Amino acid sequence: MAPRAISQHAEHQVNAIRQALLRWYDPHRRGLPWRKARDPYRIWISEVMLQQTRALTVIPYYEKFLNRFPDVQTLAAADESNLLACWSGLGYYSRARNLRKAARMIVRDHGGCFPRDLQAALELPGVGDYTARAVLSIAYAIPFPVLDGNVARVLSRLYARRADLRSTSGKRKLLNMAESLLSRRRPGDFNQALMELGATVCAPRQPQCSVCPLRKYCKAYSRDQMDRYPPTHSKVSTKLRSFLAVHIRDGQGKCLLARRPPEENWMGGFWELPMWELDNKETNTRARHNRKDGIILREFLGRLRHRITTNQIEVAFYQGYLARPPISPQEKWVSLDQIERMPITTITRKVLSYGPKLFR
Ligand code: SF4
Repeated sequence: MAPRAISQHAEHQVNAIRQALLRWYDPHRRGLPWRKARDPYRIWISEVMLQQTRALTVIPYYEKFLNRFPDVQTLAAADESNLLACWSGLGYYSRARNLRKAARMIVRDHGGCFPRDLQAALELPGVGDYTARAVLSIAYAIPFPVLDGNVARVLSRLYARRADLRSTSGKRKLLNMAESLLSRRRPGDFNQALMELGATVCAPRQPQCSVCPLRKYCKAYSRDQMDRYPPTHSKVSTKLRSFLAVHIRDGQGKCLLARRPPEENWMGGFWELPMWELDNKETNTRARHNRKDGIILREFLGRLRHRITTNQIEVAFYQGYLARPPISPQEKWVSLDQIERMPITTITRKVLSYGPKLFR
């Protein structure tokens, strides 16, 4: 085949893939709330939330956040404690703080509009390459390809290329593939279509190739080698840590919370049930007889697991009482209603979600 014929063939193929993907996306896309309008503010908030959590989990947090902070001006003026309370449960709290910093820059330097220029977008705190490209392509239809884990998986399988998203060269290869496929006419829809395909059809394990619009073009599928792409990585070893948390109520049914030191790396300034880490040799049976800081444990209520990056955390939680009034300035008695409006650590939120049946 002559070189020109090859390139024509390739171009035809790229066109066909692009069209097949967009044709599939239009009727199949999920009606996610941030897709209802092309408001850059809303798209930016959703993209930041989606970096850490699956779309369906994000929805209630997104709606609550937009109710509380409906525009960039409200976010710029937000009180930190309200902001963190609203973000509570999503984790990665530096992202919430960066959102507010970026909102202030947008109000001060960009007339209240998310900038259209890639460089200016990248200068906003917390806005990385992926977020900037996603917002600009979806909100303003500027033709930038995006690359996240879902997109990388689809492309790696489609072209049977073992390109690793975590290496510079792998990222460059994947970005080139995304760039060559990108629809100049509908870049935002195209990017979302690739992400949607990765999230709903081309799953990491057991991709649903039988319903995939790209099956006819997919090299991994034609070789029955879907599990070879993208390359997998050896698992990072996890550290097991045990904690003990105590639920203490006063005579009016209020619950005792303690504030974490603001300078703490992990959730500094957040409120939590009184808790402490058990050392390796300490068993929970022994801990039952422990008292610490005037807190006496009474009844074992349950146990839960929580993962923070490479830490696998196990929390044993107890009903207890306080044998040392008054409380310190870093402690507070709060009602369940007040807790809803406070920045609470995820572990405490999980423990409290065990609900009134445990905490009678
Ligand atoms: S055919 Fe299968 S492996 Fe290929 S892109 Fe579609 S779902 Fe993924």
